[in-house]
Amino acid sequence: MHYLQREFAERTKSGGTVLGLLQSSALDGLWYLDLEDRAQEWRNNQFWRALGYDPAVLPLLPTGPGLTNADDQAESTRRIDAHLADPGTPYDQVLRYRHQDGRTVHLRRRGAVLRDDKGNATRMLGTHTDVTHERETEALLKSSQQAARIGTWSVDLRGGSIHWDEMTKEIHQVSADFVPQLSEAMNFYKAGTSRETIARLFDRAVREGESFDTELQLVTAEGNDIWVRSIGQPEMKDGECIRVHGIFQDINLRRREEERVINYSILDAKSKEMEQFAYIASHDLREPLLTIEGFLEVIREDFAETLPVEVMSYMRTITGATKRMDELIKGLLDYSRLSAIKQLQEVNLKELFEIVMTDLNSAMSGVNIEFSYTDLPLVMGYPLELKVLFQNLVGNAIKYRRVDERLMISATCADTELGWQINIKDNGIGIAQKDLTTIFKLYRQLHGKGKYTGNGIGLANCMKIVELHGGDIWVESELGQGSTFHFTILTREELEEG
Ligand code: ADP
Repeated sequence: MHYLQREFAERTKSGGTVLGLLQSSALDGLWYLDLEDRAQEWRNNQFWRALGYDPAVLPLLPTGPGLTNADDQAESTRRIDAHLADPGTPYDQVLRYRHQDGRTVHLRRRGAVLRDDKGNATRMLGTHTDVTHERETEALLKSSQQAARIGTWSVDLRGGSIHWDEMTKEIHQVSADFVPQLSEAMNFYKAGTSRETIARLFDRAVREGESFDTELQLVTAEGNDIWVRSIGQPEMKDGECIRVHGIFQDINLRRREEERVINYSILDAKSKEMEQFAYIASHDLREPLLTIEGFLEVIREDFAETLPVEVMSYMRTITGATKRMDELIKGLLDYSRLSAIKQLQEVNLKELFEIVMTDLNSAMSGVNIEFSYTDLPLVMGYPLELKVLFQNLVGNAIKYRRVDERLMISATCADTELGWQINIKDNGIGIAQKDLTTIFKLYRQLHGKGKYTGNGIGLANCMKIVELHGGDIWVESELGQGSTFHFTILTREELEEG
């Protein structure tokens, strides 16, 4: 034995300064346990201070149950027994204690058995170290890793083993006891670019010591296709790579959101292009049509008397066809104009309905119409488009009226969860169940040419206008029983929110 060690032992035995020093400053506490009556344990002041108690009022200090976590206490008994059975097994454990203010304090308890003259294990002496801060930091790290879905992995190149932590296993959707093999781990990456990339990067990390950080696609054990970020860091020893370890993160949500935004902007650009095309095409188409109409007029005026009757009848058909074409082109122009950038304004739907009603009523002076309407709301919207919406709905109600009954058109509104709901009701010819959704499609008409004028664009425009205002449009009807067209429109707050 070293003379200093011997001297230290002697001094400790004699008590005094050495023992005092040990008691007051050794780590975060000392403990001394009676193995013959394990309820008896002495702890020094440091221990009590770590739990927030004042050692000056020592007799009042709590002992026994409640101070320590019951599970940790039971584990402690098991470990002490293991140490007693084999002193080669050190006693080393982190126990949870209750601080005076109620929070949990983590103390690392290490100790060793002390024997009496006959060699019987009678006492244990040990130390406490407060590891609360480390434990809390670990827990915080773990919960942030959980939230960010970050796991860890390592490949030991000498032993050939792989380690995946809990989160890495969770991302792969394998069970907690899954033991990965290297080739198997690689095969989780999606065949093709992803698998080739990870193989190349891993190989370069091992051979050239180069780290990597990449985003790849993975197919989980349950067959889900997800995006992951894989970061790898080689560990070199004597110029040779002995281990590659890294971070593994589930970035599927972020990638899917990015893809959605990209797809949306492509779609948006495409539909803008289409609208631009429709605008130019319909604008340019009207010019030659005007020329045809002009010359038809000239022929009618100048040659009416000299032309055979059949030719005049063909001329009427041509005039009718050019008129229909003109209507069609105008409709297309309206359709493309609806998408131009506009300014949102406060619109009084009641006033708008009154204007449309008056206009259409005077245009249809021969038709006896009974209009009724309730207080329609003030909304945020595009006035011109909302006017076109009312014109189309009320116009259709007039067009598809029943000849045997007085036409009644009403406009009502209700405040619903989806915003304002406006209902335009007529007592006209009605629509069959099977056509209730298709009539909103472009060029969809339920009647052959001749009976009703029109081009099948009106309701497609209505749909576009309602969607522009963040709403929905639908119809309830039965053949011969009239129709009610409903549309919703967001309130000002809802529209501003998003
Ligand atoms: P159109 O120019 O033919 O009126 P719309 O797109 O406005 O085109 O309407 C599509 C079809 O829906 C119409 O052809 C008609 O058959 C039917 N429809 C629209 N509104 C009504 C209504 N109020 N009552 C009965 N049928 C209607």
